[in-house]
This record gives sequence, C-alpha cells and structure tokens, in this order.
Amino acid sequence: MQDCLFCKIANGEIPSKILYQDAEAVAFADINPQAPHHVLLIPRRHLASMKEVTEQDGALLAHLFVVANKLAQDLGLSERGYRFVTNVGPDAGQSVFHLHFHLLGGRPFGWPPG
Ligand code: 5GP
Ligand code: ZN
Repeated sequence: MQDCLFCKIANGEIPSKILYQDAEAVAFADINPQAPHHVLLIPRRHLASMKEVTEQDGALLAHLFVVANKLAQDLGLSERGYRFVTNVGPDAGQSVFHLHFHLLGGRPFGWPPG
C-alpha cells in the first residue's frame, strides 16, 4: 500500500534494523524501544489492524506467532517471559495502521497495563 510506513519498511524503502524476514513476515527493531528488547513483527501484506483479520488469515497468523516464538528464543527471552501484543484503535493507542505485533522483553511488565 502506498504511503504506509510499515509497507515501506517491509520493502526496504525506509531503513530499519531488520531482525528477521521471510516471504510473509518482517521483524524489525522499534525506533522508540519501551523495553531492552522491543521488536515489531508485521505481515508483508497490508492489513490496517486486527480489525481486518478474517478466518482466511489463519495460516498467516499462525506463522507470525511461530516467528515470534523463535525470535523470543533467539533473544533469550523465553525463560523469563515477554509480552506479545497488538494495539487496535484509539483506546489502545494504535499509531501505525499496518497490523503489527510488539514483542517486548528484558524487563518485568505490570498487569493490567496502564
Ligand atoms: P502502535 O502505537 O501503533 O501500536 O505502534 C507503532 C510503533 O511503531 C511504535 O512503538 C513506534 O515507536 C514504532 N515506529 C514508529 N515509526 C517508526 C519507524 O519509522 N521505524 C521503526 N522501526 N519503528 C517505528
Ligand atoms: Zn502497510
């Protein structure tokens, strides 16, 4: 999609610190990290948010979760744990409208979130 920041990161038009990529997914470091490890994981295909997800996206979502699991292991986060979240809409503070998951780790997180 034109004029989408994360589409441009996925196709290399805008530089980022890419940690993993394949035909379906890209993981890159968040520009404003909220934890020692803060990775953004996106599908290459443009979906504005979780609101656009359908049953047909099941394999893609499974793939994103498997990639996140591997990334967490590679980053050494699996033992102590981490958070894997997607913000949807204004109450959650979504600021980029290309579906993305935050993989956050390396410190404890409170619950419920503020
Ligand atoms: P949201 O608030 O939509 O859940 O998350 C958007 C995330 O994208 C934020 O954590 C923000 O720091 C990150 N972000 C915004 N612009 C850029 C950018 O140009 N490059 C990278 N790597 N991350 C960005
Ligand atoms: Zn996009």
